[in-house]
Parts: sequence; structure tokens; C-alpha cells
Amino acid sequence: MNLVSSDGLDKLRKALGERKVKTSLPDRKLYSYDATPIPIERKTPLAVVFPENKQDVIKLVEVCYEENIPVFPRGAGSGLTGGAVPTDERGVVVSFERMDKFTVDVDNATATVQPGVITADFQAYVEKLGLFYPPDPSSFKYSTIGGNVAENAGGPRCLKYGTTREYVLGLETVIKEGKVVRSGRPVLKDVAGYDITRLLVGSEGTLGLFTEITLKLIPRPKARKTALALFDDLKTVGKAVNAILLSGIFPSALEFMDEDAIRAVEQYKPSGLPKGAKALLLIELDGHPCAVEEELSEVRSLLESLGAKVKVAKDEEEEQRLWSVRKNLGPALSHLRSGKINEDIVVPRSYLPEVLPRIRDIAKKWGLLVVVFGHIGDGNLHVNLLYDKGNEEEERKAERAVDEVFELALRFNGSITGEHGVGLTKKKFLRWQFGDAGYELLLGIKRVFDPKNLFNPGKLIEI
Ligand SMILES: Cc1cc2nc3c(=O)[nH]c(=O)nc-3n(C[C@H](O)[C@H](O)[C@H](O)COP(=O)(O)OP(=O)(O)OC[C@H]3O[C@@H](n4cnc5c(N)ncnc54)[C@H](O)[C@@H]3O)c2cc1C
Repeated sequence: MNLVSSDGLDKLRKALGERKVKTSLPDRKLYSYDATPIPIERKTPLAVVFPENKQDVIKLVEVCYEENIPVFPRGAGSGLTGGAVPTDERGVVVSFERMDKFTVDVDNATATVQPGVITADFQAYVEKLGLFYPPDPSSFKYSTIGGNVAENAGGPRCLKYGTTREYVLGLETVIKEGKVVRSGRPVLKDVAGYDITRLLVGSEGTLGLFTEITLKLIPRPKARKTALALFDDLKTVGKAVNAILLSGIFPSALEFMDEDAIRAVEQYKPSGLPKGAKALLLIELDGHPCAVEEELSEVRSLLESLGAKVKVAKDEEEEQRLWSVRKNLGPALSHLRSGKINEDIVVPRSYLPEVLPRIRDIAKKWGLLVVVFGHIGDGNLHVNLLYDKGNEEEERKAERAVDEVFELALRFNGSITGEHGVGLTKKKFLRWQFGDAGYELLLGIKRVFDPKNLFNPGKLIEI
């Protein structure tokens, strides 16, 4: 049943057909959420629109630009910074879930993908063809390629393979007034003009709507092996990471957990990790089976020479068990406290031995429990500040502590976000990172693509 009516909505229905424009209250409410764990400004949209092809998206944007209707693009709603959340009740959410087709060009190792394709489905398909699409956000089983591109998502494998941006060769994007921009080509080299594709990757739905994404694929590694190393002190972890990376071996993942993270996981689902361990590294190597074996034994001796205790997974089952230590962290933290602010700062990795104790100092200063884990090889730390929901004083302290964590990252030449994006929750910090002149440039770019500020207004930058 349609509960809402307006000229704009009528035009949308006429342009796209009733079937693609939903206005029931449950639909509008359901599509106003994403996975952001903290309270954010959220409005119930006027409607949820389900385009099925590029023409639908063009018509939609034409109407929205004529009628001044804000547009909130949405993939799977797994974002952690409010990117897909509508912030204006006069706006429409655009869900790309019906645009979920892709084709693979095996000879050229490229793929043409609609934005609503689920990342895991795409990865599984190309792997059967002997190809590989490496970007691996932990949400890969349900997040979409469109959402990954808009957030420039990454995961453990980014150390070796880079983030989503490295795999986007081209984009078809609908911008102001329904105009279509085709940037990039399905080729590995293209130096013609400004690199609009790289600019659009990570634009968080604020510059336009992606309708087609051209992706680069690489050969699938034939083997993969995992090892887990336990350390008695934090300093040795930094040394171990450097030693591995300078040995000529390039792990496909190098994941770190601090002592609180280890304790939290052991309390949640015991896996026999020693109580006194101060830090843990999960190391994954991939490549040719012979090379992986040789590199693994080299990494093992290197770590043992530094005093770490090393366990190597013998088979896939054991490998899953080792990774479950890392994967159980999310639920384990939810068991510790009802509230969690999970920030994902990045610093050049050589600063980690200085930055890690300072994060602990911030937590101590505000009397908060902080749990740190992350992708240590690329300096991307997940700093989890835990508090009790409903305890207003603790919540306020956690917010103040977050400000200090961001200041710390910037002071050490880092960034306020390595994965989750800016969205609603970090936009006040973006000016700190860019400075006034840089921020002006961002505003100028936004105005070129979206002069009426209708694409995801209120996100990333403040107009
Ligand atoms: C448990 C969990 C683990 C996570 N782990 C990681 C991780 O390891 N690494 C990581 O990077 N992120 C991670 N995330 C965050 C999130 O999954 C990623 O940001 C992901 O890329 C979002 O994809 P989505 O399809 O859910 O997009 P949504 O959350 O729906 O949207 C994200 C952004 O994309 C925009 N958007 C969506 N589709 C389009 C389109 N077609 N055109 C233009 N803009 C569009 C939206 O407007 C929004 O700004 C995690 C989230 C959860 C819940």
C-alpha cells in the first residue's frame, strides 16, 4: 500500500513503474538502517527505489534532480559509518539489490559487474575459472561490489594485493541531471586525462551512482598456508613484522591482536591460547605450493629466533580454527560491554610501537576498556573503545577518547580511516586531515558532480 504521495514520487512511479518504487512504512523503515554500531542521525525516507538497469537509474536521477529529491544509494547496508543511511525524509533510498548481474572476460582477466553483486558470490565464481578478485572486507559474504567500490573497502589481503581501488579499471556513473560518465577502460594501462575512476572509488555515494563496474582480475594463487605466532611483549611484534617484510617474503595477510583482544576471545570461545600472551600475529602466505612451503618454514624460523611461539596449520580445518580466533573477536567484544566504538585508523607501520602504547594511555586517561587488533602489515588498527550503553558519562568519555585517537593518527602521519570510510560518523574529522585548502578542493569536486547536493547529502563533507 502506498502511504506517501507527492509530485516527485508520482513522477518517479511514472518513470520507473510502481513495482520499483516502494512506499510502505515497513519498507521505508527497514531501508533506513545500516550496520553503524553507534547512534546516528537517521530519517525515514519518502520511498525506497529498486532500479533494475542503467536506464532506471538515469530516469531516477533525472526526476530527483528536477524535483530536488535527495538520493541515498545503498548496497547491502553493511557500512559502519552511516553511509547508506537516509538523513532527509524528503529523500529516496536507492537499493541496488536488483542490479546483480556480471560477466567475466577470461581472456583479458576482467569482469563487468553491476553494483548489487554480492562480493563473495563474485569471488567464488571467478575462482572456479582460475582467477582471483582479492579485496576481502570481513563483510564479503553479504556486502556488495557497489558498496565496496563506494567505500574503497579492504581487508587482511590488502597488504599484498591492495584495496578495492586497485581492481577498478572503469566505472559507469550517473551524475547530476542523469548524465552518464564512463571513466576508465577494460585495460591495464590508461593514462588519458585525469583519473576520474580513482576519484570516484571511495566517494561514498556523494558524487553519483555507479551502474557498472569494470574489475581487474589476477591469477588465483594455487596454495595458501596460515601460521599463528604468540609473543610475550609488544615490541617484538613490531620487530617480527619488519623482519618478515624485509626477508623478501610478502604475506597475503598479517593480522595482529593485543592481549585484551586475546583475553576477550578466550573468554568468549576458548581455543587454548596461553593466558599471559601479550600479542598474537596471524600470518597467511599464498602462491605456488613449493614456494609457500619454503617461505613458511623461513617465517617460522625467523619468528622463533625472536622468541615467538609458532603454530602452523596442517590442514584446512586447522587453518579455519586459527582464523576463528580473529573472526570471533567481533562477537567476543559485544560480550564484554554493550557499547563499542570501532575506529580504523592507519599509521605508517614503523610508528606502531609508539602509537600502540599511546592508545592505551588514552584509554587509561578516560577510564575505558580499549581493545586493539588489525592489519598490522599496512598499519591499519581497529581501535575498539568499549563502554556500557545507557551510561551517558561513559559514552561521552568514549567520544572524547575517539577525538584523541584521531589526533594521534594524524600526528603520526596517518589517516582517520583505512577501511570504513567517513560517512556521518567521521565527517567532522575530515577537515583536520585535509586542512582548509584541501577541504576546499573536496567541496569544489562535490559541486562539479552534484551542484544541488542531492547525492547522499550530509555524508563525508559538510556543504
Ligand atoms: C561485520 C562487518 C565487518 C566489516 N568488515 C569490513 C572490512 O574488513 N573492511 C572494510 O573495508 N569494511 C568492512 N565493513 C564495512 C562494510 O561492510 C563495507 O564498507 C562495505 O564496502 C559496504 O558495502 P555494502 O554493500 O553493505 O554498502 P552500504 O553499506 O549499503 O553502502 C556503503 C556506501 O556505498 C554507497 N553506495 C552503495 N552502492 C552504491 C552505488 N551503486 N553507487 C554509489 N554509491 C553506492 C552508499 O551510499 C554508502 O555510502 C564491515 C562491516 C561489517 C558489518
